[in-house]
Amino acid sequence: MKIAPGATVGALQAGLPLDPLENRILLCHALGLTRVGLITNAERALNAEEAACLAALVGRRQGGEPIAYIVGQREFFGLPFQVSPAVLIPRPDTELIVELTLERLAPRARVLDMGSGSGAIAVAVAHTRPDTAVTALDLSEDALAVARANAAANGATVRFLRSDWFTALGNEAFDLIASNPPYIASSDEHLVQGDLRFEPSAALTDFADGLSALRTIIKGAPAHLIAGGWLLLEHGYDQAEAVRGLFTDAGYAEVESWRDVNGIERVSGGRRRK
Ligand code: GLN
Repeated sequence: MKIAPGATVGALQAGLPLDPLENRILLCHALGLTRVGLITNAERALNAEEAACLAALVGRRQGGEPIAYIVGQREFFGLPFQVSPAVLIPRPDTELIVELTLERLAPRARVLDMGSGSGAIAVAVAHTRPDTAVTALDLSEDALAVARANAAANGATVRFLRSDWFTALGNEAFDLIASNPPYIASSDEHLVQGDLRFEPSAALTDFADGLSALRTIIKGAPAHLIAGGWLLLEHGYDQAEAVRGLFTDAGYAEVESWRDVNGIERVSGGRRRK
């Protein structure tokens, strides 16, 4: 689309072909304004460069690109996270596994986040509970770079490891392991719709039935948990029963599922037996 130089901030807030919230986010990003700045600068006219910049951002959004990738940022657990197409965009649903983790931490606990992506879970835990020794691992070097930047920007101390699930861990043990692994089945049509088209497929799908990464983690975690240590796993909206079955079959105690902000069973967990 074209935006005429001379158009004012106020006029553009109503006049762009996007929903009002997305309009505001892109206007702020293009002009370097805060949301309050948009109001106080309503009469300000865009110069040619600003108009071209905004038009390019709006064009990308109209092409389906997620707003978080366009502006390079998304808020999670009240903290700003840098995002790029190397990582999944943090979801509000995932705040549940952070809360469940925080509720279970003794002082100076050791926590492992497997498949850390942007670092959302690890950084939120380390930021909220600086006494915790948080380790985060991911297979993707590009994701680890984003996560390291997020830990630094949020003043969180996290140890990062490149690892294919448990392979780089040696015989280290943790008090709690949390993971939001790829759990969308390869046949799920959502993978070719909306924002998901732009996200890294290896962070979304196991390229199988959706349960294979969950199975790998449930099977391997007891060797890296202290007796009584918790494993907490985020999973798909229809996977809670199957995941509880995997926990129970693998001999975990206190197997349970918890509901997210939308009332969907989103995290299941269990404890390594003594
Ligand atoms: N919750 C994400 C979605 O449904 C998927 C995240 C994941 O696969 N770990 O879009």
